[in-house]
Order: sequence, then C-alpha cells, then structure tokens
Amino acid sequence: MRVEQPFSEAGRPIPRRTPTSAPFLDGAREGKLRLQRCPRDGFFFYPRPRCPVCLGDDWTWQEASGRGRVYSYTVDRVGLDPTQRERLPLVVAIVELEEGPRMTSNVIGCAPEDVQVGMAVEATFEDLGPETLVLFQPSA
Ligand SMILES: [Zn+2]
Repeated sequence: MRVEQPFSEAGRPIPRRTPTSAPFLDGAREGKLRLQRCPRDGFFFYPRPRCPVCLGDDWTWQEASGRGRVYSYTVDRVGLDPTQRERLPLVVAIVELEEGPRMTSNVIGCAPEDVQVGMAVEATFEDLGPETLVLFQPSA
C-alpha cells in the first residue's frame, strides 16, 4: 500500500500524523521532545505502537531533556531530494539522546564544517505549518 507523503505549503515534506505519532507531534508543537518509555526497557524512539524490545504496549509518553550528542552525520551538498535543495548544505545527523535512543534529524545553527561526532546538541523546533519538526543545534 502506498501512502502519500504530506507536504507543507512551501513544499517541504512533513511528518505523517497517526494516532501513535500524534503525542510526539503535539509535543514538538509545544517545543517539547517527547519519547515513549517502556516500564521494563526504558526510552525508545520512533513513535510506535509497541516497545521494540519486549513488544509491550504499556509504555507512556515522557518529556525528554532535548539534549544529546552527534553520533554520526553526513553533509548533503547535492540535494538528491529536490524539496531540500534550498536548505543546502544540509547536515543530516544521527543524534544519541541523553535518554539513550538515537534519532535522525538535521543539525542547524552552525556551519557544516563545525559539526563533529560527539558534539553536544540540543533540540530546537521548526514550524512548518501543519506540523513542527524536531531539529538540533549546538548546545549553548
Ligand atoms: Zn519493553
């Protein structure tokens, strides 16, 4: 089954809202990074109906610190995705959150050359209209 990707008015792809992802997206709208937490296995990401470790569904949403470190990254200078071309060069990073899970996002607010593995970052939010993205910037 093919599900259409939603786009903002400016043509940027936006996250698809589902009953499972809605609390995460509502948190982002409020400037909060929310993660699901299993009572047995701890925090996990991405929004999903069951814990990836024990498959339990008795997890809860909790606000995360928003702090993490760059685990890995690449710099997109080509723009294979035409919807992202005006944002180039774009740092696509895997951020290891303080709570443990790793999250793919963008690092903004600094030159791509200044990004390093292990760099401390904090969540920041970009309003795209229908939804809000969770991005990261160097920690203050
Ligand atoms: Zn679990």
